[in-house]
Amino acid sequence: MTFSVESRIIHAGTERAAGAPLAPPLLATSTYVSQGEPDPARGYGRIANPGWAAVEEALGAIEDAGAVTFGSGQAASMALMLALAEGRERIVFPVDGYYNTRALAARLRPHGAQAVSVDLLDVASVERAVSERPSVLWAETPTNPLLRVADVKRLGAVAAAAGAPMVVDNTVATGLLQRPLDLGAVASVYSLTKSISGHSDVFGGAVVSRDATLLAALRDWRTAGGGIPGPFESWLVLRGLKTLPLRLERQSANAQAVAEFLVTHPRVRAVHYPGTTTATLDVARAQMPDGAGPLLSFELAGPDGGAGSAADADAVVAASRLIVPATSFGGVESIWERRARWAAETAPPALIRMSTGIEPAADILADVEQALRA
Ligand code: PLP
Repeated sequence: MTFSVESRIIHAGTERAAGAPLAPPLLATSTYVSQGEPDPARGYGRIANPGWAAVEEALGAIEDAGAVTFGSGQAASMALMLALAEGRERIVFPVDGYYNTRALAARLRPHGAQAVSVDLLDVASVERAVSERPSVLWAETPTNPLLRVADVKRLGAVAAAAGAPMVVDNTVATGLLQRPLDLGAVASVYSLTKSISGHSDVFGGAVVSRDATLLAALRDWRTAGGGIPGPFESWLVLRGLKTLPLRLERQSANAQAVAEFLVTHPRVRAVHYPGTTTATLDVARAQMPDGAGPLLSFELAGPDGGAGSAADADAVVAASRLIVPATSFGGVESIWERRARWAAETAPPALIRMSTGIEPAADILADVEQALRA
């Protein structure tokens, strides 16, 4: 009997023996009593912790795959770059994806590979970029912060034809809303800091893959590089993960309602949300049939209908009473920020990125409405 993904997430890591604690024990130790031949699971705390194994079981269950967890999304990305770039000359990134991933690759230059940026919606330029030199295609969809939706299946075909492994940063959608491994990706990479843990209280990262050799290489990079999750952090991620389906359902509905409200608002000149952006609505519905996720962004209009100013956007963010001014996304609380306040971010100056929480939609909408009026 095979149970649903939702049930498997809840029961991952649960021991059923009489007397076993129902909540998983938190094993905070750096080492184990041992001598002679080391036990790989109980030798040294940088090699293994039972708390990681439970998270990996749950994440693997979502995508019918295996998983390796890390101390943050960036640590997961770094290990994946190192594992995949060997023998390749390029890592091809979306020009509008999470800027710190591109910046990390540019500084790390894993095995000499160069970071190259392309527009993932321009499939011909992706094809050119991955064919010119041996490459890794590092897709991200929906992108952060412009929420642009790329067609993963088409990108997977282009990458396969060029012999380039494709990675999808699936942090925004999560494996519940989008399944990159079914669409040609060798790995999904995640910041667990966002929706998966869901309570804005922990850092984590993971790579999910069906390729046993890649998973072994990632474990090896984790042990060697030390980007390990802490036992308590893993415990928090597992606890948060159990409610992911409930949270995502509510958050996607809330984000959809906010995006639809903003589309017709006179102070807003553009709304970016996979569930309302008409140009990619068909791809989004096919690729993310169960919801478009908690993240959206919108650009304020100036008095002449052109682009609004950074000061206008700052004033709107400051006027909220419920929505918290903060970076990050995927938590239970609604938050927003003017994205270009981060110096290295290339978003338009008056773009506000918002993550809807699980508050009732009417409260969130009322706060957005009054902040835009203030
Ligand atoms: N990938 C995406 C799409 C992100 O938005 C982020 C963080 O914002 C990361 C990766 C990095 O994750 P972390 O902050 O957990 O290192």
